[in-house]
Amino acid sequence: MDLDNLTKEVQGRYHRLVDQGADPNEWAYAWRSEYNRGGFKAVDLLMEEVVAPGKCIGCAACVTICPVDVFDYKDEIPLDTRHNACVFCELCVDVCPVLRPTDRDMKDQIQLKEPVKDEGFGPYNYGVYARATDKATVDQGQDGGVCTALLLHGMKNGTIKAAVAGEEHADNPQMGSSMLQTSPEEVIKGARSRYTYQPNTLALVEAMKKDLSPLAVVGVPCQVNGVRQQQFSSIRLDVAEWYQDNISLVVGLLCSEAFTEEGIDWLAQDLDVPKKDIMNINIKGRVEIKLRDGREEVKSLKAFGKYARPACLYCMDYSADNADIALGGIGMDKWTFTIIRTEAGHKAFQALVKDGWVETKEFEEAPLGKDLVIRLSEYKRNRPLPALMPSLGERAEIGNLDPKNYYRGWEDGASAKNWRPLPPPPRKKKKILQTNDGEGK
Ligand SMILES: Cc1cc2nc3c(=O)[nH]c(=O)nc-3n(C[C@H](O)[C@H](O)[C@H](O)COP(=O)(O)OP(=O)(O)OC[C@H]3O[C@@H](n4cnc5c(N)ncnc54)[C@H](O)[C@@H]3O)c2cc1C
Ligand code: SF4
Ligand code: SF4
Repeated sequence: MDLDNLTKEVQGRYHRLVDQGADPNEWAYAWRSEYNRGGFKAVDLLMEEVVAPGKCIGCAACVTICPVDVFDYKDEIPLDTRHNACVFCELCVDVCPVLRPTDRDMKDQIQLKEPVKDEGFGPYNYGVYARATDKATVDQGQDGGVCTALLLHGMKNGTIKAAVAGEEHADNPQMGSSMLQTSPEEVIKGARSRYTYQPNTLALVEAMKKDLSPLAVVGVPCQVNGVRQQQFSSIRLDVAEWYQDNISLVVGLLCSEAFTEEGIDWLAQDLDVPKKDIMNINIKGRVEIKLRDGREEVKSLKAFGKYARPACLYCMDYSADNADIALGGIGMDKWTFTIIRTEAGHKAFQALVKDGWVETKEFEEAPLGKDLVIRLSEYKRNRPLPALMPSLGERAEIGNLDPKNYYRGWEDGASAKNWRPLPPPPRKKKKILQTNDGEGK
């Protein structure tokens, strides 16, 4: 069979599994069954099923797993620039979190800390509000500076050699790039959240080339899931082995959605300041902005929400369910909502506690935080899987590219089966229900 036909056959098999309502954990057999027969041109399947319909969430897992550098990455999506170099290894499709949910046995592979509970925001052992005891770290951090403290402490004690994270752009601090951090100064430089999309995991390739380990990875949930699928892909080639052997800590950031650069442009225009003067944005039911001259401004989340990144609809994970430690800014101002999931997460966090680098408070001190995390996780985890959702073009036709308000019904507490996509236009007189995080983000 020629190559194009073989790819079509795998694609047909994938569609049949999806359409027949097969267990989503079985969907990967569409391509894995081809692996022992020499594989197929998987890059074509990835581009047709994920990138062309606008469903790519930009996690970069396909880019950084490809052993022959088929992809470039631009404007938050992969480009198959060196398409003909494909060696049929199938890794790019196997690691894509949009094509399939993470494998069922992922929970065993990441070594959850026992006893495990799941109250609606992923399996975990315990959780606390935490804050760095060093005031400078808190000031430099987004919330309690826990992420920065974890990286700094790991580097100081040799439990991590480098971190895959990000840094802000000097001319537009609300946009960032990936960065392989190898010094405390670089960790501090990368602190705080950019609420736009920062493809941290692109720095994995540099880490691998320099053979830097043990390695920490910081990322929003789409990136965490991409990294986990890279580490535990059942296709055991050298790249996947390297990620499995050398990534020792995966820190996830809770995430409802990211925002587009147009949102930052809008803010700058609305506040009548250059973009380089918007030093920090924090979203706590409203958009809190810190400017270079020390002024603090507030904008409504409803207005800024128009700039939510459309691709984020295809993301099912709010709480970084597969991270070692998940961190959020919900519940208590200037503290980090901290969820310890795995043995590795427990070890890293307890090392901070033992050395007095963080102070903690029980979730019960601000119980609303946990309630919100459960609610926000529910909206994402109960959406249909991306393969079953409309494409970006179809959503544009309906006139709703908003990831937060695409499905309605959930906000009334209705079960997921009663959720429904927004009706098609005309919608001028209808009020779209506001489903924002409300109290915190
Ligand atoms: C796009 C986005 C959406 C978020 N949404 C929510 C939410 O809905 N609810 C909630 O509770 N928390 C959310 N957070 C998490 C929150 O903003 C903080 O990152 C978290 O509370 C940790 O705070 P900290 O002070 O411990 O982190 P810090 O010590 O300040 O460290 C922050 C780390 O995040 C990295 N980082 C910064 N921007 C990005 C980015 N865009 N993508 C990936 N990594 C980045 C930095 O490089 C740094 O390593 C979101 C974060 C991001 C980036
Ligand atoms: S979602 Fe991630 S793995 Fe899938 S195509 Fe996009 S960048 Fe690649
Ligand atoms: S919602 Fe957050 S985690 Fe999900 S795709 Fe968007 S940026 Fe990534």
